[in-house]
Amino acid sequence: MSIFAAIDGFSSPDSLGAFLRASQSRFGDKLAIASSLGAEDVILVRAAAELARQGGAAIRIFILDTGRLPEATYELHEALEARYGLRIESIFPDTVGVQTLVRGQGMNGFMHSLDARHRCCGVRKLEPLGRALEGVDAWITGLRRAQSASRTTVELAEQDGARVKLNPLAHWSDDEVWSHIRGNNIPYSALHDRGYSSVGCEPCTRAVEPGAHPRSGRWWWEDPQHNECGLHVARIRRLKEARNADDTVVERGAEAPSVRPNGA
Ligand code: SF4
Repeated sequence: MSIFAAIDGFSSPDSLGAFLRASQSRFGDKLAIASSLGAEDVILVRAAAELARQGGAAIRIFILDTGRLPEATYELHEALEARYGLRIESIFPDTVGVQTLVRGQGMNGFMHSLDARHRCCGVRKLEPLGRALEGVDAWITGLRRAQSASRTTVELAEQDGARVKLNPLAHWSDDEVWSHIRGNNIPYSALHDRGYSSVGCEPCTRAVEPGAHPRSGRWWWEDPQHNECGLHVARIRRLKEARNADDTVVERGAEAPSVRPNGA
């Protein structure tokens, strides 16, 4: 059975365990969870730990340590490992690549132009992600439709070049995310209680005002249409092609509920 058929209908919080079991059964050790330790990601960490506790093999979990992460993310990293008795692998950028980048555009040069920001995300995120996914046939992400305009068509499973991208939380609402975290007492980033709707690099992420779009805390100095880092660029390209085809414009902020992650 294809993975697309195997996980069909597994879209609710109750079916997360079954989703991971089906994914592991299909891909074995060629399966990995890509995490930023945001709210969605801690749910995936706990689900992977539950699977292992029930006798399944451990699913590899990795985080891209860009070198610019906030201290709260490192604290959470340690708290999750201690709580669930697992290891979250840190993937670091290439040292020479970072040195060349900083020599060329300065330490915070990413704030000076979109190209400079893409260069920084390229060196600190995309190149490491490519390395992290070598030998991986399917990767699991915490992408959700409610997160942003560029994610409204996220599917439970998507072909991503030669790999499959699995998004078990694609259909979860903000409320479902936070009731799952609270109901299972899952450690989460202290930044969420300070108004951060997503967790990213320290200089490029900030708290959002109540009622503001959840992604507005990312790269806030740029045009909102650019508020992705490129990790999910194939999805964005497809969305733009679809928009061009039917001339439908999705306005940022129009489609997603602006609920504070902590429900405050
Ligand atoms: S989010 Fe900011 S600091 Fe992090 S890699 Fe991208 S531009 Fe660089």
